[in-house]
Amino acid sequence: MELPGGDLLVRGGTLVTPEGAREADVMIEDGVIVRVGRGLRSSGHEVLDASGMLVLPGIVDEHVHMREPGLEYKDDFTHGTMAAAAGGVTTVVEMPNTLPPVEDPGKLRSKASLLSGKAHVDFALLGVLHDENLDELEGMLEAGAVGFKAFLGPTTGNIPPPGDGAIYEALEKSSRLGFTVAFHGENWDLVRRFTERVRSSGGRDPLAHLRSRPPVCEEEAVQRIALLARRAGGRALIVHVAAAEAADAIRRARALGVDLHGETCPHYLLLSAGDYPRYGALMKVNPPVREARHQTELWRAVNDGTLQTLGSDHAPHSAKEKSGDIMSAASGVPAVQTFLPLMLDAALRGRLPITKIPELMSRNPARLFGLHPRKGEIAVGSDGDLTIVDPRGEWVVSAEELYAKHPLTPFNGWRLRGRVVYTVLRGTVVAREGRVVRETPGGAWIPRGSA
Ligand SMILES: [Zn+2]
Repeated sequence: MELPGGDLLVRGGTLVTPEGAREADVMIEDGVIVRVGRGLRSSGHEVLDASGMLVLPGIVDEHVHMREPGLEYKDDFTHGTMAAAAGGVTTVVEMPNTLPPVEDPGKLRSKASLLSGKAHVDFALLGVLHDENLDELEGMLEAGAVGFKAFLGPTTGNIPPPGDGAIYEALEKSSRLGFTVAFHGENWDLVRRFTERVRSSGGRDPLAHLRSRPPVCEEEAVQRIALLARRAGGRALIVHVAAAEAADAIRRARALGVDLHGETCPHYLLLSAGDYPRYGALMKVNPPVREARHQTELWRAVNDGTLQTLGSDHAPHSAKEKSGDIMSAASGVPAVQTFLPLMLDAALRGRLPITKIPELMSRNPARLFGLHPRKGEIAVGSDGDLTIVDPRGEWVVSAEELYAKHPLTPFNGWRLRGRVVYTVLRGTVVAREGRVVRETPGGAWIPRGSA
């Protein structure tokens, strides 16, 4: 599928790919990369001087809940994709728990057409897997879904969680047809029991949410998915891994050859239990941000390859929903705009190699969701999506600069090293210095099979 795109020559920057960093120019024509090398000369292309800057493949955020359709009071696709562009994200993978849930081909198509005129970055769509729509998976793939998401407990839209049988059969289909099933990995029965205990003891202190979802909830779910994937085949991704035990279960399954992948999010790497008194419900997410030992293990898992991807789990709520005590407040934070800046800061402070950013936040998510090599790569033939950052710049996160309708992030006021300077989508600069500069939405839907 050909999409409209610009001509651009990005000159003098340092390309950062999983293989390393090197000086090279990138020439984009009609939105597609046509040459990568030193000393490229413009023949009428607009020239962007990237001297002193790092040129990354456009960031692919594999985990966003943009809230449209049905939950626009929380946020919408226009605000969400503007936030993505401003933060250096060029492709988002949108989760299916909107209203109505994306549970059949018709709902997938109508969501795609609804969002198409509103996208400021490119997007792909997941379908939902629940207990009653196993027969719809093939149809949704044909309609353009790039994979599926299974919620093992209740989520938006009252979706009946898939039982083990449905999960097994979905993984068999994954093995046959080649797609990823992403799992929210928490055992719902355990979550319910622990939550009841906390509520009946009257727990409302900042750590109550943490106690209501202890690590065993994640560990059990990951072990079960790992076993089912081992026996059924297929490819499974555990999203937002928060517990050391869950990361360890993924490590062990991968050592056995199971096609099991793990994602974590910046908030699990950068916040820990000691931050609850300060941020309260602002940092309430599921699974919860845990004690420092988990943070240490997640960093290890990111750096040793146990976890292959990062996602923002962008999940905005209204101010009203985020107020009140920790047990009654909604879970989730608007995160797509701070996603890269937080990890760039971490890399520039030496917490992970800078080359891990294109691996975890671009190539690997693009691969998992069938978008590679069109997305996730700086290579001839790939889309001209680039994220250009100034490693000597800095950014102080401020709510006024966030595009979310309700910019309620615990990272407000954080001073970050590095700055996202340009976001290039298929050869066109769509954001500059954190502001969206292309006002007409130029993002496109990337259906399965078009990479
Ligand atoms: Zn999520």
